[in-house]
Amino acid sequence: MMFSSMHTHTIFCDGKDDIETMCRAAYEKKLFAIGFSAHVPIEKQIGKKSNWNLKEENVNDYVKEVLAAKKRWQGKINVYLGFEADYIKDIRSPLDNDITSLKPDYLIGSTHFVSPKNGAQPFTVDGPIEEFEKGLKEGYNGNAQALMNDYYDTQKEMILAGGFDILGHADIIKKNCQGKYTWPKESELCRQKEIAQAAAKTGIIIEVNTGGINQKRLKEVYPSLSFLQIIREFDIPVIITSDAHCAKDINGNYGIAIQTLNIADINKHMLFNGKFNNKAVWKIEII
Ligand SMILES: [Zn+2]
Ligand SMILES: [Zn+2]
Repeated sequence: MMFSSMHTHTIFCDGKDDIETMCRAAYEKKLFAIGFSAHVPIEKQIGKKSNWNLKEENVNDYVKEVLAAKKRWQGKINVYLGFEADYIKDIRSPLDNDITSLKPDYLIGSTHFVSPKNGAQPFTVDGPIEEFEKGLKEGYNGNAQALMNDYYDTQKEMILAGGFDILGHADIIKKNCQGKYTWPKESELCRQKEIAQAAAKTGIIIEVNTGGINQKRLKEVYPSLSFLQIIREFDIPVIITSDAHCAKDINGNYGIAIQTLNIADINKHMLFNGKFNNKAVWKIEII
């Protein structure tokens, strides 16, 4: 059974290892491909510093280094240039020209930010708990269900706008909530069904991301089993990723991803096989 690692971060953004170290790890694990998905720059757009995104001035070096690694590892492992592109309502999108003009092999579209309707500052649901709780209080008056709804609204908007290949960690809203901030399960399942419907319509791949487990923040993958069961209903293809921020996590906890897919009755996953005529090509792998 072949696997890839298409959601990875390096020292160019918030990862710990460099591009070469990550390539070597992927090669040693006999992966089919490694893709680099640096967080796109956002400082200019959000008007404040970010310690987890690629700096605008380093974008060209990042592209150069990934392309050089692609050449260096040719014949040993497929190396791809990608980005994890943020969708921030009216502020940032995977369709932004500064990203598409770099001609990446693929893009992961991720919703990290929500933009409260009361005018409070957009904040990331993936950030440190203090930042999350401040955002929840200021933007949603502490109403976690309202936040959850906004999160899925934003994600749906991103999917329908398009311009990316893989949907990133589709229920990352759970990371900072975990039993502390709750809402009726049924209401979330409804929202997840809308996400699956939108994904089915636009033909994207949904990642089964072990990043929360690798970070020791969660015991389950994104998306959770019940969400994956909905994804199965809509027959949406999935790709197993690790959201690796260091070489040792390159295929971290893929076993849990496979177990979860088995329970959800999903018996195949996708491998990225390059971009031809501006279209991503996928290889189906049975699991
Ligand atoms: Zn992310
Ligand atoms: Zn990531």
